[in-house]
Amino acid sequence: MSDPYQIERERMVESQLKKRGIHNSQLLEAFSKVPRHQFLPRNLRSEAYTDGPSPIGEGQTISQPYMTALMTLSAEVAPGDRVLEIGTGSGYQSAILAELGAEVYTIERIPELLEQARETLRQLHYDKIHARLGNGTLGWEEEAPFDIILITAGAPEIPAPLLDQLAIRGRLVIPLEEGYSHVLYVVRRSPKGFHQERGERCTFVPLIGEYGWGRNPRTKWGKLRKDS
Ligand code: SAM
Repeated sequence: MSDPYQIERERMVESQLKKRGIHNSQLLEAFSKVPRHQFLPRNLRSEAYTDGPSPIGEGQTISQPYMTALMTLSAEVAPGDRVLEIGTGSGYQSAILAELGAEVYTIERIPELLEQARETLRQLHYDKIHARLGNGTLGWEEEAPFDIILITAGAPEIPAPLLDQLAIRGRLVIPLEEGYSHVLYVVRRSPKGFHQERGERCTFVPLIGEYGWGRNPRTKWGKLRKDS
């Protein structure tokens, strides 16, 4: 069956990714292939290829295509990499990672979003993605270590359990709060320790949970528990 959004998707790849300097051919191929509109609620599908984040329900968003691409590129995904994603959301980022040959583990804290993402991924035959409900700031200890950890929500600091679960030579990509928005950081682990690189400014919904924010924005989880 022909895809009514194929032309819009190609335009997105040209104007939002290539024009901003993303030229990795495997990555561009993955973005050309994955039907992003199917990860959005039916009434919002017509905005699936616009240059920004879109609502997916429960007050959450699917990230801007460029941001999904930048995070994936920064993580230097190679086939066979074990990748942990924190914040399944719509499931779109997981599908892109799977297209690049990664073995994907993804955690979402909101049950309704997880169920919807699982259903979308099932319909599109991404059968090998492991998705579960939970507080991703604690990681997925039974499956660690991971070659890559992608945190797709904005954090006050790097959750310590995630650093512990990163393999030697692994990469962790995380938006960290700085001022009124976030900055994308890439943390690399070597036998000698961790090395952090600062990247582009960005804006994300909050990472909520122990080692993240409290449910009340701008309150850290530990402080929230002490006060409540
Ligand atoms: N990667 C997603 C996609 O491709 O659609 C977009 C993620 S959205 C920007 C951030 C997601 O992180 C939200 O769905 C939110 O519920 C989730 N989230 C926030 N804190 C979390 C936590 N501690 N553990 C797991 N998921 C969390």
